[in-house]
Amino acid sequence: MEKIVIIGGVASGTKVAAKSRRLKPDAQIDIYTDDTHVSYSACGLPFFIEGNFDDEGMLIARTVEEFEAENIHIHLLNRVTKILPEKKQILVLDREKNQEFSVDYDKLVIATGARPAIPPIKNINLKNVFTLRNMEDGIAIKEMVLQSKKAVIVGGGYIGIELLEAFVKQGLEVKLIEFAPRIMGIFDDDISDIIKSHILEYNGDKVEIINSDSVVEFLGGDSFTGVKTKNGLEFDADFVIVATGVKPNVELAVDAGIELGPTGAIKVNNKMQTNIADIYAAGDCIEKIMMVSKTPVWVPLGSTAIKEGRCAAINLCGGDDKFEGILGSAVTRYFGFTMSITGLTEKQALKLGYEPVSVIVTKFDKVGYMPNAKNITIKLVADRKTRNLLGAQGIGCGDVDKRVNTVATGLIQPMTVDDFFSSDITYAPPYSPSIDPLLTAAENLIKKLNEIVL
Ligand SMILES: Cc1cc2nc3c(=O)[nH]c(=O)nc-3n(C[C@H](O)[C@H](O)[C@H](O)COP(=O)(O)OP(=O)(O)OC[C@H]3O[C@@H](n4cnc5c(N)ncnc54)[C@H](O)[C@@H]3O)c2cc1C
Repeated sequence: MEKIVIIGGVASGTKVAAKSRRLKPDAQIDIYTDDTHVSYSACGLPFFIEGNFDDEGMLIARTVEEFEAENIHIHLLNRVTKILPEKKQILVLDREKNQEFSVDYDKLVIATGARPAIPPIKNINLKNVFTLRNMEDGIAIKEMVLQSKKAVIVGGGYIGIELLEAFVKQGLEVKLIEFAPRIMGIFDDDISDIIKSHILEYNGDKVEIINSDSVVEFLGGDSFTGVKTKNGLEFDADFVIVATGVKPNVELAVDAGIELGPTGAIKVNNKMQTNIADIYAAGDCIEKIMMVSKTPVWVPLGSTAIKEGRCAAINLCGGDDKFEGILGSAVTRYFGFTMSITGLTEKQALKLGYEPVSVIVTKFDKVGYMPNAKNITIKLVADRKTRNLLGAQGIGCGDVDKRVNTVATGLIQPMTVDDFFSSDITYAPPYSPSIDPLLTAAENLIKKLNEIVL
């Protein structure tokens, strides 16, 4: 019987297992995961903490028993300590029984994901210092929130902002410290500035955002009581979240001789194969190709982890599937304010050698006489030479993400902004103005490109 072994059981690992089962009803499929839970929505954790629902079980897509019913065996708290490609074996430590054993494989999938990247902060190991990555973290943070009044968040990326919303909603006062000059640095500076202004306009009484400063020390004896920053600020809080980014879990792969790409994540081809025969990798542990620039990037997202898992499963089961890359398309929110992005930002495009030209348009998302019409701001970026669209960013309290998603479809193949302007997108007063803000942005961009050429 063919043995398919998967390391890691969240988004990509479980997708590999489920798809492989459908394709190979007779294979033996085992997932080894160094985690207390399997098949959960890490993306839902901030919303669980916020109090949208109290049963953490709702975050679990498929239970261990449901996997077992499909003859997929889940081994929780089982850490894979070594891959031995020449023997087609892995070594596993059962952390509950403290026993080490070996497992043979015919096909192996590395889906080890990512983990928080922790900056050098003194007293990082104090009680009530948290990171948010897995179910245990989410449950512990929620318990803490319910007995707290003040929190500090270190890091103003999307996890920091989602937690900011959660904590404010739970009635906490929050200080957010970001070492960069701007929060939400995946966006261009002009867009990040609007995001910060919106958050402070909306919740300035509860929220303070400190940029261009970094936390150097956590204060307290056994338990955290406050933070000290490089610029000499000191303030107290009940707990702190360190949300300063993530890094890929690649040590196991490196030890086995698996090649990494320039981003430091595992290099795979478009079939999710590593450089070692019969070893595949998928999800946050792998490097991806940015479809616009065809350059390697590391953008760890659940949306793509699942697609990569599917692709790995089809290929390891003997099929022929290709995963051509990503656009880094992402969306999040701060209360009713949506932030969405796809493709290259202007600053990324510049670094990659394009000659980016951009426009920003702010307009109602629906016809102005509709009662729930709200402003949205769209930034479109194109290349001066080719006139190809490079990316879009959209923010605002109206329907932003559908506009950004439209651009995402247009970015799969090179498309000039002139062609994009011909997009026959829908119109009715409750859904958009007669000329959609996205098309207004495209029209303005065409004008700007024409002016530059002349
Ligand atoms: C708070 C939060 C919010 C998010 N929100 C979004 C969102 O809105 N949209 C989006 O697209 N993405 C979001 N993400 C990202 C998304 O959750 C990840 O991209 C996704 O979980 C990646 O799946 P994965 O299977 O590759 O890896 P992971 O989810 O990291 O899972 C890897 C698993 O492998 C296990 N493992 C690691 N090493 C070993 C080993 N040696 N032996 C055994 N097991 C091992 C780990 O314990 C872990 O359980 C969010 C993430 C977080 C933390």
